[in-house]
Amino acid sequence: MNMNAMYSLTYGLFVLTAKDGKDNGCIINTPAQVTTSPNRITIAVNKGNYTHDMIRRTGVFNISILDESAPFSLFRRFGFASGRDTDKLEGLSLPRSENGVVYLTDHACAYISGSVVAEVDLGTHTLFLADVTDCEVLSDSAPVTYAYYHANIKPKPQAQEKTVWVCKICGYTHEGDQLPDDFVCPWCKHGAIDFEKKGG
Ligand code: FE
Repeated sequence: MNMNAMYSLTYGLFVLTAKDGKDNGCIINTPAQVTTSPNRITIAVNKGNYTHDMIRRTGVFNISILDESAPFSLFRRFGFASGRDTDKLEGLSLPRSENGVVYLTDHACAYISGSVVAEVDLGTHTLFLADVTDCEVLSDSAPVTYAYYHANIKPKPQAQEKTVWVCKICGYTHEGDQLPDDFVCPWCKHGAIDFEKKGG
């Protein structure tokens, strides 16, 4: 079995936003339209994300579909911090859709509003099945794919003299000869299996 086959699956990148008192959002790569009539989507959200808990409580969310102009700072803002202890939307002035949840207009080519109709506990994640309650096209720019992000947006690791472990998902670098099996990437929450050894 070659696990690299899993990297041949194609994905996009999205900001998932919710509102429960405060506004919050995180980066996800898993929205999929699963039926057209009714128009329904699924999203899988890591339970470690504060946005996950907000959606479980409120049942509503928006997905902003990021385009190829999205800078690394946007992924850092939404993907590498927790909304539990920071205001990820600080300094942003974002419009609200019909459901009262914010969505991105800069670096997003469309947004979709979802209302949860079912959820499945996947262990690390919850899979939400949702009705599409609203959606709008924001621009004709190309939606960013995961492959495009890796090739053109994520910073390239520098040549290393020390041994480092680089997260294949987000680029986070951990210094040290060993990487503990239970290591969890502080930025994207992926495990040790998604790190590769560089330098040393
Ligand atoms: Fe990571």
